[in-house]
Amino acid sequence: MNKKLVTDKFVELFGETGDFYFSPGRVNLIGEHTDYNGGFVLPGAIDKGMLACIKINGTDKVRAFAVDLNEYAEFGMQEDDAPEQSWARYIFGVIREIMKRGGQVKGFDTAFSGDVPLGAGLSSSAALESTYAFALNDIFKLGIDKFDLAKIGQATEHNYIGVKCGIMDQFASVFGKEGHLIRLDCRSLEYEYVPFNPKGYKVVLVDSVVKHELASSAYNKRRESCEAVVKAIQKRHPEVELLRDADMAMLAEVKGEVTAEDYMRAEYVIEEIQRLLDACEALKKGDYKIVGEKMYGTHEGMSKLYEVSCEELDFLNDIAKKCGVIGSRVMGGGFGGCTINLVPEDKYDTFVDTAVKEFTHKFGKEPKVYPVKIGDGSRKL
Ligand code: ADP
Ligand code: MG
Repeated sequence: MNKKLVTDKFVELFGETGDFYFSPGRVNLIGEHTDYNGGFVLPGAIDKGMLACIKINGTDKVRAFAVDLNEYAEFGMQEDDAPEQSWARYIFGVIREIMKRGGQVKGFDTAFSGDVPLGAGLSSSAALESTYAFALNDIFKLGIDKFDLAKIGQATEHNYIGVKCGIMDQFASVFGKEGHLIRLDCRSLEYEYVPFNPKGYKVVLVDSVVKHELASSAYNKRRESCEAVVKAIQKRHPEVELLRDADMAMLAEVKGEVTAEDYMRAEYVIEEIQRLLDACEALKKGDYKIVGEKMYGTHEGMSKLYEVSCEELDFLNDIAKKCGVIGSRVMGGGFGGCTINLVPEDKYDTFVDTAVKEFTHKFGKEPKVYPVKIGDGSRKL
């Protein structure tokens, strides 16, 4: 992501430069498959994101240039003006969602560039949506609060991209804060900043470059398992609406009434919600060893109980252990994507070198490595 590059391109295409806005991608330290069970997630914004230059152009059209793709799009802002290119549909969707909420958006020129790897699970799409939601709100003085900016991004995914995502990615992008993760209650949407200052450690993602092909059918099956267990528990505990409300004792009561597979799935979820809460307590005390143990616990649970890992991710997790990484787990829904690793600084080089070398040797493809820092959310530059 290069401000000069964006400026130069903008000036070349549209004349005088405009205002600059930035929104980040995100990581999730712990809390996977907890969202649809009413539990918590623990994302943080990262120091990689989307940078956009924007200026009102006095027309009713948007003229947009994606610097990284070297592509131009021009489109109107009514419902049937949707552009072809997927990157432009994100911008269009954000505009439409703002307009549906009564916001007045006029034509503008824009160029943008980002350094969030696409499709690696760091949510380049949320970075893109949040950048434009935040920028348009500011430029057109719409007075939309930050929560609604996140919801506008989420609605864009739902209605203009066809991805039925939760709120976490857009929320983390908009609300991110340097030195903090955000404990988000997926049921009430209440949130709390949790300090994250892992002195002496680095956070690094290792991308297995495996695509999540199994993910959507497996995802639906996991959800069905969770629902089946809730139904069984409800016979004794009608107040339990989601696995969030259940504990291991309640689960044990229904052991004979649910399938072994459903039992395992629910066991993972109930433990994962607790692991996240324990990790937050440890973060408040600055105990990163415990945080790391919880991350390994998540990996184990996702691999053995929830069964959403894969050979490549398990391999990366084993290497992390071997190299003295204090916490490592698959990040995201599973079946591919990245592991997130909390690595002692003095072990960082060895870990990265070993992971790349051994993974490439075993699988014949090179994993990608993304070091990240936890940074601030959406902002004007
Ligand atoms: P991710 O997990 O990174 O969010 P998605 O598939 O949800 O992956 O979003 C990736 C899409 O976002 C791309 O296909 C593209 O349309 C858009 N996008 C992301 N980064 C950029 C960029 N730097 N330039 C143009 N479009 C981008
Ligand atoms: Mg995305």
